[in-house]
Amino acid sequence: MRILLVEDNEKLSGLLCGELQKAGFNIEPTFCADEALSALKTASYDLMILDLGLPDQDGMEVLNEVRAEKNAVPILILTARDSLDQKIKGLNAGADDYLTKPFAMEEVVARVHALLRRPAQAHSTTLSLENVIYDSHSRQTEVGGQIVKLTKRETSLLEILLRSTGRVVPKEDIEMQIYGYGEDGSANSIEVLVHRLKKKLQMAQAWIEIHTLRGIGYMLVGAGHEKRIE
Ligand code: CA
Repeated sequence: MRILLVEDNEKLSGLLCGELQKAGFNIEPTFCADEALSALKTASYDLMILDLGLPDQDGMEVLNEVRAEKNAVPILILTARDSLDQKIKGLNAGADDYLTKPFAMEEVVARVHALLRRPAQAHSTTLSLENVIYDSHSRQTEVGGQIVKLTKRETSLLEILLRSTGRVVPKEDIEMQIYGYGEDGSANSIEVLVHRLKKKLQMAQAWIEIHTLRGIGYMLVGAGHEKRIE
């Protein structure tokens, strides 16, 4: 298990490294946002421990950038800011857990273990359902072992739906994640996008189906059973 540590306080960094190494983790210390972001571009980690007060950038900016790049690495935030507001902001921005300084070393180790035990699908870079496998790092989709060519937006849509398999994803959520605030994605364009993705999945003989719940949203379900007995 490989952990990326982002903590500018050298003493604390040393203590954390020692403790986590003792617990059997492979830990890589970085001391500023810049270093951490370039480490994330060159290697993949099972977990990131992120301090919010960094010398070059706010840790929240690092968090936003990591999630904007669709990197699903679990993130444990370390910070002296103990206000509820900061915690909510961090969790909303995609952090997985929060630890307020000062903390006991045992607690860090326990939180790290807990985060790594969470169901893989929520964090994993590989999402799968029936005969569909999607890799969020390479953003490649395979159906029955064959690569399926999807556009950037079709890929994003599939990823959003795969992360919420069996649950309804509101149309507005999809719009916001695909088009963001600035861009103009009309409701109609989501419908067109869903239609195109459905068609491509069908052509590739994917055992998954996108259900449309009029006026509500979309839901991805496995349909392997019916497909196989056809
Ligand atoms: Ca700091």
